Amino acid sequence: MRVVEARNGDDIVVVLATANPDKAKDIVDIMGACAIGIRLVPRPVDVGEVDETGHTLVANARLKAAALAQATGLPALADDTGLEVDALGGAPGVWSARYAGEDATYADNVAKLLAELDACTDRGGARRARFRTVAMLRHPDARELWREGLVEGHIATAPRGTNGFGYDPVFVPDEGDGRTFAELSPEEKHAVSHRGRAFRALAAALLSGSYA
Ligand code: IMP
Repeated sequence: MRVVEARNGDDIVVVLATANPDKAKDIVDIMGACAIGIRLVPRPVDVGEVDETGHTLVANARLKAAALAQATGLPALADDTGLEVDALGGAPGVWSARYAGEDATYADNVAKLLAELDACTDRGGARRARFRTVAMLRHPDARELWREGLVEGHIATAPRGTNGFGYDPVFVPDEGDGRTFAELSPEEKHAVSHRGRAFRALAAALLSGSYA
């Protein structure tokens, strides 16, 4: 699909590069609350999966944004996220989606994380962790702007809560009352989350005109 008109009224039309509906919902909520004259359109279904072959969040965000910008002719908004656990040397990090294998489900990844950490804790390891997101806007002509967002916390000993996705049931943010991300409302999560911070910083940079 190629869309040639990048403006809709005064709004800039931007295509979402993420193929993950859970992340797309978060981004739509967060950017919607920023109200900066961007109209987000969904990722076209006829664009194939983008192989995340990069070794950094920035590289993978760039791969996704560039692929969607090229396929549609629109600026594209991408997100790449990793969970970094200190006791695991920063793993799963950039490989968070495939931690328990190529076709791993969220539950598989959480189960592997808890098993690895239980083994570490026996040796006195910590459960300290953080989520890191890179939010990137990239134009078809390769101009790009990106910002990083971080949230510090720890990994719970067992999953709690039914909201959110991915590792949310086991991530307890420091800036909270002990609930996991999956026990928070979406608004409560976005207020302190890696993704909320990355996309709000990107929106602020766009508003400040630090990007032509
Ligand atoms: P990627 O950014 O598509 O590579 O996704 C990395 C993986 O991290 C996802 O498949 C989820 O398992 C996990 N993830 C990403 N964002 C979040 C989040 O906000 N909460 C919990 N897990 C997340």
